[in-house]
Amino acid sequence: MRANIVHPGADQLTYEIREIMEVGRKLEELGISIIWENIGDPVAKGEVLPVWIKEIIGKIIVDDNLVFGYSPTNGLLATREFLANSRNMEGGTKITPEDILFFNGLGDAISTVYSYLHPTARVIGPNPAYSTHSSAEGAHAGSPHLTYNLNPYRNWLPDLEDLRNKVKYNPNIAGILIINPDNPTGMVYPEKILREIVSIAREFDTFIISDEIYGNIVYGDEKFVPLSQVCGDVPGMAMKGLSKEIPWPGGRCGWVEFYNKAKDPSFARYAKSLLDAKRLEVCATTLPQKVLPMIFSDKRYKEYCLSRADVYAKRAKIAYEIFTGVHGVVAPKPQGAFYYSVVFDQGILNNKQSLQIDNPKIKEFIERSVVSISDDKRFVYYLMALTGICVVPLSGFNSDLQGFRMTLLERDEMKFKKMVEMIAGAIKKYLRGDRL
Ligand code: PLP
Repeated sequence: MRANIVHPGADQLTYEIREIMEVGRKLEELGISIIWENIGDPVAKGEVLPVWIKEIIGKIIVDDNLVFGYSPTNGLLATREFLANSRNMEGGTKITPEDILFFNGLGDAISTVYSYLHPTARVIGPNPAYSTHSSAEGAHAGSPHLTYNLNPYRNWLPDLEDLRNKVKYNPNIAGILIINPDNPTGMVYPEKILREIVSIAREFDTFIISDEIYGNIVYGDEKFVPLSQVCGDVPGMAMKGLSKEIPWPGGRCGWVEFYNKAKDPSFARYAKSLLDAKRLEVCATTLPQKVLPMIFSDKRYKEYCLSRADVYAKRAKIAYEIFTGVHGVVAPKPQGAFYYSVVFDQGILNNKQSLQIDNPKIKEFIERSVVSISDDKRFVYYLMALTGICVVPLSGFNSDLQGFRMTLLERDEMKFKKMVEMIAGAIKKYLRGDRL
């Protein structure tokens, strides 16, 4: 090629949540039945939407031919009015429909948001982090994503001193990302911490991105506080969507709410560039936008969200009780979203550990696959070969922590318990070096 056509950020584009599936598929070919615990898709895990939600969607499809057409670039006006109204009724920062921009799922929003930042501007995010954010931000900058630490020994709370120092000494950091409730940890940011992050942003003149896609899936002691309630005069963007809470991941519907756009000309110009970029793409999916106000304003919706959160709370409790008894790991109980992350104590893993795999073909495949990979990935591969359970290594979440993330999505409580017990059993054997 006469010129280099590879983007400088190409190496940052990693998404372990789906990459791990290649190993799972190979094991399937070798006869193992895989339990897919890698991906946060409640529908794929058997969750069925209530009939009343399906009826709303079905009726609109029949009654309103326009849902098959394009929508305005920033989104349907009536839906943006509905959302702006809802936000304004909650108190906090006020917005108008012009402060809302729809995307084809938050994945699309995330990729657009980082792509159109100035090439030298950086957004610092949590470690571990949902990899769509860390990869897209790293790819935009052409170098690894910058992070502040979430501490598994302090219930995953962020290390604010670490954050403050990194922001203070790196003038390229123009934004701070929080994922609240968090993926992969399930941590819900306490209000006090959020206010401290806002004050760091105010002091160093940065904006804040708050990914709140799990905002209606909260079940611990900590109350979820949206960015709109605490950002005051600091420029911010909240990211919200339908994938997890309806749940409707296949609908590809997410949106960004801009707070305090008018307070900073550079932020306002940047927000406009996102709308301009979306215009090149025409618009986001129309049908989910159309039904959003009908679903959200239905009196059954709140109860529905609470009942879903209740199921995840039960799963989190079961897993917490089991993992708490395992020596060598720390596993704080999630308070929101539907994931559980388990971290191995530092230095406890090495590249010699294994689990006994009896089938020679599977053993050979795994032994070949674990050469030169991170120690937590090695555990994850062996776990999958022995039990069929496919989890995601924490190193795949842009993290130096060694561990893994599973989901709380299994519908059958007994099956869930058995699965966690199998994982806990495998950890014990792996760490003790037992042979069956
Ligand atoms: N943000 C977070 C924190 C997520 O966990 C996910 C998906 O897992 C997304 C965004 C992307 O969601 P969407 O389906 O809207 O693209």
